[in-house]
Amino acid sequence: MYEEKNNIAVPPFFGPRWVQIDLDALKFNVVQIKKLLSPDTKLMAVVKADAYGLGAVEVSKAALEAGADMLGVTTIDEGLELREMGIGAPILVFTPFMPEEKDLFIQYDLTATVGSLETAEALLKESFPYPLKVHIKVDTGMNRLGMKPEEVVEFVSRVYGNPLIELEGLYTHFAASPKGNRPFVERQFKIFKEVVSPLEERGYSIPIKHVCNSAALLDMPHMHMDMVRVGTLIYGQYPFGYENRIPLKNPWEVRAKIIHVKEVSPGEKVGYGGDYTVKKAMRIGIIPVGYADGFGTSPEMNPKNLLDLLKMLIKKILAFFGIRAGMPLVKYEGLPLKVLGRIGMQLTAVELPHDNAGVGSAVSVFIRRTNAGSRLPRLYVSENRVVNIRISGASRDYAQRLGEYS
Ligand SMILES: *Cc1c(COP(=O)(O)O)cnc(C)c1O
Repeated sequence: MYEEKNNIAVPPFFGPRWVQIDLDALKFNVVQIKKLLSPDTKLMAVVKADAYGLGAVEVSKAALEAGADMLGVTTIDEGLELREMGIGAPILVFTPFMPEEKDLFIQYDLTATVGSLETAEALLKESFPYPLKVHIKVDTGMNRLGMKPEEVVEFVSRVYGNPLIELEGLYTHFAASPKGNRPFVERQFKIFKEVVSPLEERGYSIPIKHVCNSAALLDMPHMHMDMVRVGTLIYGQYPFGYENRIPLKNPWEVRAKIIHVKEVSPGEKVGYGGDYTVKKAMRIGIIPVGYADGFGTSPEMNPKNLLDLLKMLIKKILAFFGIRAGMPLVKYEGLPLKVLGRIGMQLTAVELPHDNAGVGSAVSVFIRRTNAGSRLPRLYVSENRVVNIRISGASRDYAQRLGEYS
């Protein structure tokens, strides 16, 4: 899923590891997605979890420039961050509105999700200086958030026409992808439509009805409705089972410089616990990334069935013999480099194949985007030039001391 990008000139204070984010690739992906939509369907760019690790502010700006109409975040603080950074587009907060947040919602012009009759009651007791924009979330089968389908009409009839509550949207979230469980998705959609019809019959108009995420957007064009909510595809990834369905570009690459090189001989051990025993004379390189940066970590999955369990066991057995299945974790000029021994907190040893890879050579490192630590500096690239940087924590202080960044 990742390839090395052209080497670009990296500012000298950037330290020995960074994430390179290609804004042109993000915009390309937004344009590809728009091609699948009718002109009446809006595109919400989902930028929750710091835009899946890429940086919510920069990604939002790029997505809006490329034609996205609205932004989606999980929590109110994510919405506030975008507003503080000058983003004016509509922002929907997915988690349920809490009455104590009302001043912030109004002040920052955020759109609230209402997903229970209790919240509706509370809303009706509140007074707002301006109308609060609201999307109703209906639970159609995921059983996580949202009100029950049969509660929606009651809710709408109570708040409809209230000048302080602007009922802008109605939505649900699919618990599966059509590839994973098509009947389930279809059932959820059917329930959603059964919520919409009585509203329309009673003359309640809610302008933005939306159900699709990336997978449903690709597979279920009849479900696009008034808006689709897209994350995965914007970030250049395909939902499982939809590989290469549309052209996408990868905007994400983690790079690290080799900071130390040494020669080792057979029998020597490498790393904590001496987990790796050197079998032949070789050069090893040390790179400054580790599990604190999200390197070599992945969410733990439980096996779904016996076949799944078998696959996991085989992987473990192969790993015991030093054979890593799946994507290589480190590459140098396209060549996979073997990780030697345990991945440390912020340091990792790799086998160097080349005589020409030495201290200062940059390698590509595979880190799951949502796992990539916030201490990893982000470097935004367009047309092979650095156009923006985001540094937090120690690296920021370091850069400021160097007087190169403010
Ligand atoms: C995360 C999220 C999406 C986007 O899902 P993708 O599969 O990444 O496109 C859409 N809607 C809601 C409510 C979400 O939480």
